[in-house]
Amino acid sequence: MSADTELIADLADAVPGALYRIDSSGYGEWSFSFLSNGIEELYGFSAAEVLADPMVLNRCMLEEDLPGYAQANIVAFESLSVLDYEYRIKTRVGEFRWIGVRAVPRHLDDGTVAWSGIMLDITRRKQTEEALASSELRFRAVFEAAPQGIVLRDRLGKVVDANPAALRLLETSLTDLLTQPAMHPLFDAIGTNGSVIDADEHPGLITLRTGQRSESKVLGASVGLGKKQRVWLRVNATPIVRDGAIDRVVSTLEDVTDGVELTQKMRQEAETDFLTQLLNRRSFMARLSAEVERLTLGDDRCSALLAIDLDHFKVVNDTYGHAAGDAVLVHAADVITESVRASDAVARSGGEEFLVLLPDTTPEGAISIAERIRAGFEERPTDFEGTAIEVTASIGLSLIDREDSDGSELLVRADTALYEAKSAGRNAVVAGWL
Ligand code: GH3
Ligand code: MG
Ligand code: MG
Repeated sequence: MSADTELIADLADAVPGALYRIDSSGYGEWSFSFLSNGIEELYGFSAAEVLADPMVLNRCMLEEDLPGYAQANIVAFESLSVLDYEYRIKTRVGEFRWIGVRAVPRHLDDGTVAWSGIMLDITRRKQTEEALASSELRFRAVFEAAPQGIVLRDRLGKVVDANPAALRLLETSLTDLLTQPAMHPLFDAIGTNGSVIDADEHPGLITLRTGQRSESKVLGASVGLGKKQRVWLRVNATPIVRDGAIDRVVSTLEDVTDGVELTQKMRQEAETDFLTQLLNRRSFMARLSAEVERLTLGDDRCSALLAIDLDHFKVVNDTYGHAAGDAVLVHAADVITESVRASDAVARSGGEEFLVLLPDTTPEGAISIAERIRAGFEERPTDFEGTAIEVTASIGLSLIDREDSDGSELLVRADTALYEAKSAGRNAVVAGWL
């Protein structure tokens, strides 16, 4: 063995895999002029055995991979380009293995081609790749099929992926989401109490900022053409941390529109008088208590409470019938509502009795509003199927200031004033404090 060959053999034995040189004078006509001992580690056959019978390597190759390997050889041979191929073998003792081969051709002066190559055991890498590919595939399948919307943001807050359910819920396209600027909210949102939710209060963006999971926030999203559609979404955001820093934020969106709308409708119905659509007594009392509380905490402001009772209402029912009575009640609700501010609370507290809360109203102001309501009844009879039904109202007033602590006591004071108005001949306003 020459010194050169010895050096090459030593070096070849020091690197992983097998090094070789193939001389070839035409396709199919080839032989090894060098093969390192590493071949035994790969195939289980010693270099000497392979040199004696080179085809043993081809016989180890899985049959399925033979045609592809032959094809790659033809291409490399004809174009004299690098051969780069991965194939599977069964070793001498029947072990499964992935082999990666890479061989570089060189034209020799005598017209033959010399291929310098290396074979490596790439089993571990292939198995990792396959595991990754299959877990990625499984993840994809879940991602695509999930009924919940799933949106992924990167660490800068840019959307990097969204599943079909998310696009369906938000009525948007993947392109639209992917081209949004970083930290842009997925949708314009309001809370269940109707207040606008700022961008930095969106769960995904909170999680990006704080690194904490944001759980179960119900948001009303404006979606669709002109953002006119309202969808209620339960949103969760979870950080995915890598190397101690947030790498991704996964937001999930669940459509809870039916539940939220039903709750809102039920709440609305529980607070409303069916006939007039005014507040009912119970919800009015809650408003009154809140007002008492507010005044207790506040400065010297005062508010007013009006108790209104229709005069001789029984006569309306007796004369025109119950339906006419109902029409008068609905009309009465309009007369009262149109005489006060939108921020005032108006309730039908019972049969033909109404209550009005006038926050931040002076005693004189309250009297003039009560007078306006009284006059409204007098001036605007109810039109019931072409018949004008005239009804007047008596009104009692009480003031609410920071000394008050009890809503029902206020009602008693207003009712007492109302009773005085009735005694005074009805169609009258009486202020309890005068
Ligand atoms: P007063 O001037 O003293 O208040 O006399 P009034 O007739 O208005 O008072 P009273 O309390 O005796 O009668 C109230 C009537 O309101 C009796 C009841 O039949 C009628 N009423 C109560 N609720 C309704 C309702 O929902 N619809 C109709 N049409 N009538 C109702
Ligand atoms: Mg009454
Ligand atoms: Mg009455």
